[in-house]
Amino acid sequence: MESDDCSVKVAVHIRPLIGDERLQGCKDCVTVVSGKPQVQIGSHSFTFDHVYGSRGSPSTEMYEQSAAPLVDGLFQGYNATVLAYGQTGSGKTYTMGTGCGDNNSSSSHTGIVPQVMNALFTKIETLNDHIEFQIHVSFIEIHKEEVQDLLDPSTINRSDTTSSNGKVAHVPGKPPIQIRESSNGVITLAGSTEVTVSSLKEMAACLEQGSVSRATGSTNMNNQSSRSHAIFTISVEQMRKINNNTDSPENGAYNGSLKEEYLCAKLHLVDLAGSERAKRTGSDGMRFKEGVHINKGLLALGNVISALGDEKKRKDGAHVPYRDSKLTRLLQDSLGGNSRTVMIACISPADINAEETLNTLKYANRAR
Ligand code: ADP
Ligand code: MG
Repeated sequence: MESDDCSVKVAVHIRPLIGDERLQGCKDCVTVVSGKPQVQIGSHSFTFDHVYGSRGSPSTEMYEQSAAPLVDGLFQGYNATVLAYGQTGSGKTYTMGTGCGDNNSSSSHTGIVPQVMNALFTKIETLNDHIEFQIHVSFIEIHKEEVQDLLDPSTINRSDTTSSNGKVAHVPGKPPIQIRESSNGVITLAGSTEVTVSSLKEMAACLEQGSVSRATGSTNMNNQSSRSHAIFTISVEQMRKINNNTDSPENGAYNGSLKEEYLCAKLHLVDLAGSERAKRTGSDGMRFKEGVHINKGLLALGNVISALGDEKKRKDGAHVPYRDSKLTRLLQDSLGGNSRTVMIACISPADINAEETLNTLKYANRAR
């Protein structure tokens, strides 16, 4: 398989023209080269690991090719990250399946996150006779370079703390959430809620709760526009009891004792902030500042991924600029190294979005 040695894989997801674009009489300006993971727009052509077109590729195919290997890796102790990148309205939330109420929708589309959760618990079911599992989830967002807890029990389900735009109000006296790095390079979030879950239903409830409390602000482009990075993290802890008495080949060398093996890994599922330029959203004042900060995260992410993808730089142990933003700092132990990363660049096929689509494809192309 191509670029198997590279820690970052890049897929493009092209959504169909949607209602608004059709009403405006938009033309489809993106073409997929038949039989190849190649996208053309104007005179530009880009090749990725996978391209999922608007012509009805089933969402299971995208899951199987992009996220399923990461879920398998989780059970082997490898951290992983799935990133949805693209301008507001390009289909990031649709692709990830992290929108409010998406999970029980009857449509044939199932986003990446619900499929990850399903696969995870199916796998645990087949293994839990031999392995003790502990699963935790957290759901945070990074907004204006500040980490906010989307599962904070003191704000969830309290309508008096939710303002009209659905944003959870700041709880006075709560210390800010801090990103910490332990001496062995493990990144943790101090002060954010970690929910222990024991079933698919419990995990889905966390996803739903967090999606509801996700801060949104309205802009000229889309009133559900997300100006923050939303990160749903699943941690899998395993305690394997290996009976060394058995004659099975993997245990054959030992005799008589019960050995314990502990494995822990996490998967970050990231719905990134809209990648559009601040000017296009009619931003000013506060909003513009948000835009600047969001760009800081996306900029740093682009630089980190590009540094990771650069074989020569990796060999030379060159500086990977994780510390340039909260986003990259938080993902540090799950981007690069032994971890696996998939970026799904989401694009609109409409000609009015051609400039942003080209920007997205260029950004995604740097990751390869
Ligand atoms: P973003 O999260 O990037 O702002 P959304 O996921 O909210 O974008 O998608 C914008 C709109 O386009 C939504 O109405 C969504 O239902 C629709 N949409 C996105 N991707 C697809 C797709 N692949 N097929 C059909 N509709 C889609
Ligand atoms: Mg969204």
